[in-house]
Amino acid sequence: MSQILPPLFIAIAALALVLALLAFWQSLRVLLLAEPGALDESSSPDARLGLINEKATLLKALKEIEQEREFGKISEQDYEALNARYRERARHVLRALDSQLGDFRKQAEALVEEQLAKESSAENASPDAIVDQKAPATDTHSSRVSCPFCQIDNEADAAFCKKCGKPIASESDADESDVGGDA
Ligand SMILES: [Zn+2]
Repeated sequence: MSQILPPLFIAIAALALVLALLAFWQSLRVLLLAEPGALDESSSPDARLGLINEKATLLKALKEIEQEREFGKISEQDYEALNARYRERARHVLRALDSQLGDFRKQAEALVEEQLAKESSAENASPDAIVDQKAPATDTHSSRVSCPFCQIDNEADAAFCKKCGKPIASESDADESDVGGDA
């Protein structure tokens, strides 16, 4: 008797393992089969594509059962039942697509607001741009040289003051005198 027990235990354990695996496989199958329906509520692109495909499939199925009823392939009762089921499912799909569109609309509105905010900040920046455009004008004015003796403005390239006639030491002149001093 004690020699029979171990193999019996092993057999029971093996059976339990097989049953557990079967149960696991069954639940996995249920999960995999349930997945397309579960995707409906999310607004991922894949889910949207799935909904669009399902909508097309349902519309095709509705046409098919209508044809099958015309050709007498299915009874009026079956047709009514299938028709009601497909239409209910189609309503659900269309609602899900609509709610996703709502999400997309919100995203689009956020983008528009972001764009408007950018444009208004660009308008705020434009006065600075005008000041920048004026800046070169002040530069040309400052390029005039004031005489070191009488402080009268002279042309930048003037060698002598137009009022007192004394030589104006421009930068280029200073460079030349430096070179001369070195040599
Ligand atoms: Zn002068």
